Amino acid sequence: MTNPVYQTVILGGGFTGLFTALYLSHEHYPRSVILVDREERFSFKPLLYEYCTGEMDMEEVWPSFKELLQDSGVIFVQDAVETIDLQQREVKLTSGTSYNYSNLVLGLGSVTGYSGVAGAKEYALPLRMGEDALAIDQKLHSCLQQAREIQDPELRQKLLTVAVIGGGPTGIEMACTLADLLPIWYEALGGNQQEVRVVLLNHSKEILKGDVNAGLRGTALQAMQERAVPVELISGAAATAIHPDAVEYKLDEKSVTLPASTIIWTAGTATHPLIKDLPIPTEHRDKHGRLQVTPTLQLLDFPEVFAAGDCAVQQGGESLPATAQVAYQQAAAIAHNLKALALGRGLKPAQVNLRGTLMKLGIENSVANVFDRLEVKGRAGHLIRQGTYLEMVPNRAHEFKVTGEWLSDEIFHRHMGAEAEDKTADGSKTTVRILELVGGAVVGVLVARKLLQMVGNEGKNDQT
Ligand SMILES: Cc1cc2nc3c(=O)[nH]c(=O)nc-3n(C[C@H](O)[C@H](O)[C@H](O)COP(=O)(O)OP(=O)(O)OC[C@H]3O[C@@H](n4cnc5c(N)ncnc54)[C@H](O)[C@@H]3O)c2cc1C
Repeated sequence: MTNPVYQTVILGGGFTGLFTALYLSHEHYPRSVILVDREERFSFKPLLYEYCTGEMDMEEVWPSFKELLQDSGVIFVQDAVETIDLQQREVKLTSGTSYNYSNLVLGLGSVTGYSGVAGAKEYALPLRMGEDALAIDQKLHSCLQQAREIQDPELRQKLLTVAVIGGGPTGIEMACTLADLLPIWYEALGGNQQEVRVVLLNHSKEILKGDVNAGLRGTALQAMQERAVPVELISGAAATAIHPDAVEYKLDEKSVTLPASTIIWTAGTATHPLIKDLPIPTEHRDKHGRLQVTPTLQLLDFPEVFAAGDCAVQQGGESLPATAQVAYQQAAAIAHNLKALALGRGLKPAQVNLRGTLMKLGIENSVANVFDRLEVKGRAGHLIRQGTYLEMVPNRAHEFKVTGEWLSDEIFHRHMGAEAEDKTADGSKTTVRILELVGGAVVGVLVARKLLQMVGNEGKNDQT
């Protein structure tokens, strides 16, 4: 094998790949770095709803790799990976270009899973990337526009009905956001906002089943009822077929058809086909086919290859949720270990701290579940969620623009101190409502940091 240059190739510019590249650049990694992604832009997935609602703009939620990596020293190649030859240490791209590597980072994420439901891939809209958010946005605008012009009540109702398939976090966040947003859009067109329907179909009897956000079920159910139009939840509904303007599902053994012009698919993920195709034995994968990695995030059979995020699981370790916050932290560990390898130093195991979960439950309405001990809802929850994610957006200018200069420790202490007393019956979780006190002030990143510090310290004290 010819490999004249020591170079690290990163496949996938998502939370694992992009942040590995940025950390490497920041750490003055001595080898050349090539980042390959088929997209032109990085999709900040947790904020895609904000892009749909117009709460945030394209540069924040869907920035271009070129801009993000400007002056970083990382070479960005927009191309699709076609094959990965782990034996030859070679990656081939669709354009015909190929790269050899001394080290490889697999950050290809996962793909949408359709569970064999007929028509789902063809007619339902997925939500994974910025362009999906754009397609949903365009479809909804077009349906509302048509609905305004149609007299036939049945046809109009179909155009005004959105079916979201899958009651996991993405489905709930999307349904809640649309149940606030669509009535506003439709009213702006002169329509009757009460005609808008947002229907959430969930296969299981419970929403968020088996998800890291399961503890927020009650809050999510309540939020669904409190939207501008309530989200109509149909539990125990198994989608059986998707048509261009209808969903077929089974409920209590009966077949039901729901006419809906917009159908959004958030019902599952599957292992990336390129990851499936790698010559890694079954015993070095999990039951979904994801790759097992060592605590230092290296493949068991190919230690020069690192993998993290949605396409990898740690061998024998605690099972980490497939989330951005995990991938983001793993990226720092990969960068550290790549540099250690280049300099002949020892590698460190990845440290992933789960700081809690955040869910968007409508426009400017979220819930932050911090270390499963504090639940911050409403606009305050929204500010914490947005602040936390904006802290992760790679361009520092975004942070400062959004947090604002008026933000101070003092505001935080005053308001949080007064309100953090509101204990729930079992005393284990505290519900904080700082919305009224802080008014419209942007608490954002600082509150999030303080809150995390505060609860983190409490947690430590509890353990000692
Ligand atoms: C709508 C939505 C909302 C979410 N909300 C949250 C949230 O609130 N909090 C949270 O923590 N997590 C959230 N997640 C999950 C989180 O986004 C993922 O866990 C995270 O992005 C995984 O990072 P990754 O690096 O493994 O993959 P990704 O971030 O998915 O990156 C994979 C990259 O690989 C590229 N790629 C794939 N195939 C190829 C190919 N053949 N050639 C070239 N490039 C390729 C893709 O273009 C993509 O850029 C959400 C996910 C979605 C879809």
